[in-house]
Amino acid sequence: MAVLLELFLIVVAACIGSFLNVCIARIPAEGQSIVKPASRCPKCGHPIRFYDNIPIVSWLVLRGRCRDCGEPISLRYPLVEGLTALMGWLLLKTFGLGLPLLAAFVFVCALIVITFIDLDHQIIPHVITLPGIPACFLMAVFVMRVPAVESFLGMMIGAGTLYFVAVYFEAITGREGMGGGDVNLLAMLGTFFGWKSLLFIILMSSLSGAVVGLGYLLLKGKGRETPIPFGPFLCLGAVGYLFVGDPFLRWLLIRA
Ligand SMILES: [Zn+2]
Repeated sequence: MAVLLELFLIVVAACIGSFLNVCIARIPAEGQSIVKPASRCPKCGHPIRFYDNIPIVSWLVLRGRCRDCGEPISLRYPLVEGLTALMGWLLLKTFGLGLPLLAAFVFVCALIVITFIDLDHQIIPHVITLPGIPACFLMAVFVMRVPAVESFLGMMIGAGTLYFVAVYFEAITGREGMGGGDVNLLAMLGTFFGWKSLLFIILMSSLSGAVVGLGYLLLKGKGRETPIPFGPFLCLGAVGYLFVGDPFLRWLLIRA
């Protein structure tokens, strides 16, 4: 029985991943509704049949090609669906059934959408982060049991830290390295977890960002001007904190 419930929740998460794909494609395009019209092939415009819209499975059955025009369908679609399902399952294992699972899943879904939009367009849409901050405050205080003061301080310190970095980076290098989107995103993350999470998130995101950034520059051999979005690494740090944040804080307290 428990296995069936688990499977059911994984399938639900994969379907939500399918919806996240729609958000990733449509949110950056101003004025496009995320509910209407139904999904169409971006190449030939043919509406996707309902039986071709099954998360992951349809992509495999169609071998990654549109049934109508035969043009390739991006691997990103099943990837996002699979990632959402995997995150849902990991969160279920971590939080068990209940409101914290729901809050954490909604939070992670927002991070998935932000990550892929930032990778594609180098922007973090305010339409997600600005309502995201009060929503994260409510989830933090009423569901995740974060004291309201810690959540509020998380927002202020999160925004303040990156704002400070952004201003100094621009003053030293004379170019814009970090956008207002990153500032809003770290404010949102700090709000959800409380200010104590920020050290971990900033460390994780800077380290992973530096490693991936250097690797990318070495591989591609491009100049240092190549823009690498920071949002995905902030999201990675936040997901890491979801799973190992508490043990990390305890370890830090013992060391201190
Ligand atoms: Zn097509």
